[in-house]
Amino acid sequence: MLRWLCAAASVLAAGCATVSPSPATLAGKGDLSEATLKEVTRTLSLDAFEGRAPGTPGEEKTLAYLVEQFERVGLRPGNGESWFQDVPLVEITGEHVEPLTIKARGRAVSYAFGDDWVGVSYREVPRVDLDDSELVFVGYGIVAPEKNWNDYAGVDMRGKTALILVNDPDYENADLQGPFNGRAMTYYGRWTYKFEEAARQGAAGAIIVHDTYPASYGWATVQSSWSGPQAYARRGDGGADQTLVNGWVRKPVAEALVQAGGRDLAQLSAAAKRPGFKPVRLGATISTGFDNSIRRFASKNVIGLLPGRARPDEYVIHTAHWDHLGRCTPDAEGDNICNGAIDNATGTAALVALAEAHVKAGPAARSLVFLAVTAEEAGLLGSEYYAANPVFPLAQTVGGLNMDALSLAGPARDVTVIGGGKSELDRYLEQALAELGRVGTPDPSPQAGYYYRSDHFSFVKRGVPMFYIDSGIDLIDGGRAAGQAWETAYRDTGYHLPGDEYDPNWNWAGVMDDVQLFYRLGRTLADSADWPNWYPADEFRHIRDASCAPEGGC
Ligand SMILES: [Zn+2]
Repeated sequence: MLRWLCAAASVLAAGCATVSPSPATLAGKGDLSEATLKEVTRTLSLDAFEGRAPGTPGEEKTLAYLVEQFERVGLRPGNGESWFQDVPLVEITGEHVEPLTIKARGRAVSYAFGDDWVGVSYREVPRVDLDDSELVFVGYGIVAPEKNWNDYAGVDMRGKTALILVNDPDYENADLQGPFNGRAMTYYGRWTYKFEEAARQGAAGAIIVHDTYPASYGWATVQSSWSGPQAYARRGDGGADQTLVNGWVRKPVAEALVQAGGRDLAQLSAAAKRPGFKPVRLGATISTGFDNSIRRFASKNVIGLLPGRARPDEYVIHTAHWDHLGRCTPDAEGDNICNGAIDNATGTAALVALAEAHVKAGPAARSLVFLAVTAEEAGLLGSEYYAANPVFPLAQTVGGLNMDALSLAGPARDVTVIGGGKSELDRYLEQALAELGRVGTPDPSPQAGYYYRSDHFSFVKRGVPMFYIDSGIDLIDGGRAAGQAWETAYRDTGYHLPGDEYDPNWNWAGVMDDVQLFYRLGRTLADSADWPNWYPADEFRHIRDASCAPEGGC
């Protein structure tokens, strides 16, 4: 039967041979309450919640309200007897930053912090010094066993600093073909990965070469993001296993420092695109140092549970971040509260509405987890902390979906699928969309790596397959032009601004459609016995396979 399904499907879709059974029974329609979606969004967006910044009275109000809502709809506390997971956070601010000094062939040149380079430390220590650390060009800084690729082959990085190119080796391909998915960014292309891998290699420092096109943002973004306070989810060891310094240099500076050692960055970069590339010791050292001012504080994730009736120790997870920016730069009218109605009171409201519909439908075979995470806006910190310290083991977590900023543009024919073509979850989505008479639009900018930039990714990078489905663009009323106009208007007047406010005139029909899709996906996964995995060539497959317990689970 399954082989037959596969043969039939292969006429339409490539890659069927790698796909697990399609979901046997798609869940029916969920009894979703538009009133709940509206009321939770409205309440969380009130000025009294002060924009829901972690560590403020707005957090207290938000947590109390979410517990009240989870109790009202009939969830159980998700963390033993508690609704909360404490999330310890740390903010580290580099001060008195010295220039970056390159020494090669008896000469020293210094580069100014800010204009030429930026850097921070992930370590909770009062002072960081990088002293004459040997510089090694490691190409794209990738170790990808499933692609037989190792940019660190044969070099012991202890005490050394890695100089790393941004993006991945085939980003210049026009299409999506290539070992690193061509134009689309793989996780190996994200700066977070580069710093994580350098730390795994034991490097003292990691410096990424900025280049606007492959980075998809300019130096001004890098400069503002990597100077000033940096917030992290606290690590048990205070970050002792991290590099001392993580930073970026402007491309002309990188060219100069490679040249100081008698090499050419363009030649090295071309070599780095080819399989079999070997790291190059540059015959140069770098030095810098700075003080760290450290502030420790705490926030909370909120967790509700609907225990499964057949296999309660298997979990399907739903996530949405409850936090937003709090008080922010005032607009022309003097409004200084970034209410975050769309980002992400809507997603949090959908979490409550989904919980309510699932409780009404009765327990599924597997347990359903509803996780409202903190500190997304500071860099996915609440979800990162949960995934590093999971209440429910990740090897027992089948998969799930994340909701971040639902669209109030009105009903759409499509949804935007971020991270399609990566895992067997594709089949669930295709089936649910077909059932609902809707279509999936592939990520319009796969080069920007959006799949690696919201809360589901904290799970994904540890191997758990997750959906990230954005609202559609092809509106029933007005088509793509109207969808695009709504997005542009939100970007200009709402996104991360005081103008992201609740509007009593919103049309909720599109949100109802999207949440209905999420209901079916979650319910179908929770009633199935499947363990959808990443496709074999995907960058997360080997992580999932390694983390699965041999005696069961995924
Ligand atoms: Zn958001």
